[in-house]
Amino acid sequence: MTQPAVLVTGGSRGIGAEIVRALAKRDVPVCINYVSGEDKASALARELDAEGRKYCVVQADVSDPGSVKRLFDTAIDALGPLGGLVNNACFVGQAGRKVENIDYETLRKTFDVNVIGAFLCAQQAVRHMATDHGGRGGRIINVSSIASRTGSPNDWVDYAASKAAMDAMTLGLARETARQGIRVTGVAPGGVATDLHANAGAPERVERFSQITPVGRAAQPAEIADVVVWAMLDAPDYLTSTTIEVAGGL
Ligand code: NAP
Repeated sequence: MTQPAVLVTGGSRGIGAEIVRALAKRDVPVCINYVSGEDKASALARELDAEGRKYCVVQADVSDPGSVKRLFDTAIDALGPLGGLVNNACFVGQAGRKVENIDYETLRKTFDVNVIGAFLCAQQAVRHMATDHGGRGGRIINVSSIASRTGSPNDWVDYAASKAAMDAMTLGLARETARQGIRVTGVAPGGVATDLHANAGAPERVERFSQITPVGRAAQPAEIADVVVWAMLDAPDYLTSTTIEVAGGL
């Protein structure tokens, strides 16, 4: 029997793309969402095509309610009932800023994508999966960050605060939906070798993690994806409301 599908926001590159690959290898139909990087999303789609996987690709801005509704409708039309959502998409402004220098647009976008976006997607997922709504239950995995407890001073306190909001949502939504067949878990990486750092103007951050992380290196995206996929497919039913750190001891 085909497994229920999973929707991965920001699934086109970085950690999200590894989550997509790992789910697809387990024969889970996957919806790959992206916002502007069509080339990366198409390249990943070609990979999945070559392996004969069931997937769809949907461009949508997770911070826009109409786009999020369309994203879920399209995914369900293409892949059938959803059994899971991975809230992975994120925005981060330029690295190396003190709070007093963060411009309003960056503050808005950080919270719009990382917090409002995660809420909008979680709302659609609950309406679709909750037994109270006639659904079959399912899992929501929120990709957070240990920044929520370090605060990321002198870098991106706005991003850290958005991830702390996400952790609170993991806790509250998990408790709210536990009797509706839904399990909500966070996965919080430390430093991961993705383009996020170079795109934020600080490619040296990946090397810096080698020095400050007890295991002596930044994580590979696949190491985070493995934990997300475990939480989505293999974790006991009793796992909910908690955020698991995958940070090499940091
Ligand atoms: P990334 O390489 O920068 O990729 C970000 C993804 O999010 C891309 O697929 C991007 O799509 C998508 N995205 C951005 N804005 C969006 C929007 N408005 N709507 C829909 N999709 C959007 O990020 P990453 O490093 O893989 O990080 C993935 C997750 O891990 C994030 O939640 C991040 O906070 C968390 N994390 C990362 C690290 C790290 O060191 N990298 C550490 C801790 C936590 P496009 O390609 O279309 O732009």
